[in-house]
Amino acid sequence: MSSEQNIQQCGLTQTVTKMPPQTNWITRDRAHIWHPYTQMKTADAPIAIVAGKGAELYDETGKVYIDAVASWWTNIHGHAHPYMAEKLAEQARKLEHVIFAGFTHPSAIELAERLLPLLPAGQSKVFFSDNGSTAVEVGIKMAIQYFYNQGIARKKIIAFDLAYHGDTFGTMSVGGDLSFYHAFQDFLYQVERIPTPIPGQEAACLQALEAHLQKGDVAAFVFEPLVLGAGGMLMYPPDVLDQLMALCKKHGALCIADEVMTGFGRTGKLFATLHCQEKPDIIALSKGLTGGMLPMALTTCTEAVYQAFYSDDKMKALFHGHSFTGNPLGCAVALASLDLLLAEETQRNIQRIVQRQADFMAKIKGHPLLEDCRQTGTILALEFKTDKQSGYFNNLRDRLYRFFLQRGLILRPLGNVVYVLPPYCITDPQLDQVYGAIEAALMGI
Ligand SMILES: *Cc1c(COP(=O)(O)O)cnc(C)c1O
Repeated sequence: MSSEQNIQQCGLTQTVTKMPPQTNWITRDRAHIWHPYTQMKTADAPIAIVAGKGAELYDETGKVYIDAVASWWTNIHGHAHPYMAEKLAEQARKLEHVIFAGFTHPSAIELAERLLPLLPAGQSKVFFSDNGSTAVEVGIKMAIQYFYNQGIARKKIIAFDLAYHGDTFGTMSVGGDLSFYHAFQDFLYQVERIPTPIPGQEAACLQALEAHLQKGDVAAFVFEPLVLGAGGMLMYPPDVLDQLMALCKKHGALCIADEVMTGFGRTGKLFATLHCQEKPDIIALSKGLTGGMLPMALTTCTEAVYQAFYSDDKMKALFHGHSFTGNPLGCAVALASLDLLLAEETQRNIQRIVQRQADFMAKIKGHPLLEDCRQTGTILALEFKTDKQSGYFNNLRDRLYRFFLQRGLILRPLGNVVYVLPPYCITDPQLDQVYGAIEAALMGI
């Protein structure tokens, strides 16, 4: 590209002179930018990433990083994927955005048509939003208004005590006690919590759920299926989830599956709830939906949920929407991501990663520095022993994080839990590098 470009728009021709290339990214970042989940005063300087390819990211000096956490669990096909970039550009040249109330467009329609048959049976309608938090929040609003519209007094929401469902007020409320939320505690609505069914707590969890359900006022149970991500990659098996969902069905409460992290192949199947016999009523999707390229989210629901809103009464409509609802660029990229996800090569890669993670876990299981190892599908979590209570602010976390970064690996521990959650295109040599560094950390850090 030349340094001077002609931009022709609406008949107007402008000459734009590009700024000479500059670096000193870090100083400029620090001058103006406030990063997420970061204590800006004590945090290490951020690393300026200028390009990416496959599972690799490149900083301004050319140093390579393997993205073993899939850029906050979003990336499934690797960075700057040429097929996705092409589909994005194609859509951008055709239609970049249109208001989604009163209007529709082919990419949204095609995405809904192609996605619904891949979900657990019974999902019938798709509602668009922008991120995982809004997808869950819409699911909760659907559940509450589902009963309200029918004049049924069910208002209670149930969630796991270590759940994470997002950072908006609505989703912080259903989140567990993750210590991020203390400042906002007085502003959150009341939610009933049940024990997370980690090994040993299954019976307590089921009993607590049933006790709440028996009161007859529960609207919905919202849960992360099989893996609780931000809570520390806590895992529980499909048969427990089946029993939890069956109890909800028996007592007339809706099941909201937050598949924001688990969706699109993470657990070895396309969706975590596909490991179960029971089906959720509402499903929240984001992160892998666009392969990690653009922010977009979906909340899907059964026909029964939809029908409670379908009425001659305008007040029974779902009053929710965002400026960028149904954004065509997001839809085009999600369609491209689906093409790649369903390709045989990706499905083989997912099974390869599942096997590699299992093999590595077998190798290090029982190591004296490890409290626990666990795996669900492509996710491997290793809980390091620590004298302090396990938790997000554990300082072992910072040492591990820096140790891996120095070796060109992005592994961002949740407290003392190191997890490997890679893009599906990660190669075997790249996985070897990740495992080698973890073994080095186990030799002593
Ligand atoms: C990340 C995440 C969310 C929130 O998604 P955002 O896009 O960060 O708002 C919600 N639920 C789960 C299970 C997640 O992992």
